Amino acid sequence: MRELNDRIYEILTGTGTEDGDFLCECDDEDCSETVQLTLREYRGITTRLDQTVLSPGHSGASVV
Ligand SMILES: [Zn+2]
Repeated sequence: MRELNDRIYEILTGTGTEDGDFLCECDDEDCSETVQLTLREYRGITTRLDQTVLSPGHSGASVV
């Protein structure tokens, strides 16, 4: 999911958009929820290894 989100981020950056829909990175592989974030918020999440993009009510077990 992170790779897809990174691609989304790159595309959005190229279009000059301020925010967009990113994919939920919860444990459910079939999850297709999206989370609306600004590019700055997404960048803030991805620069911290212990944080993931999550839709409300979804949980990720990516605790190191
Ligand atoms: Zn999810």
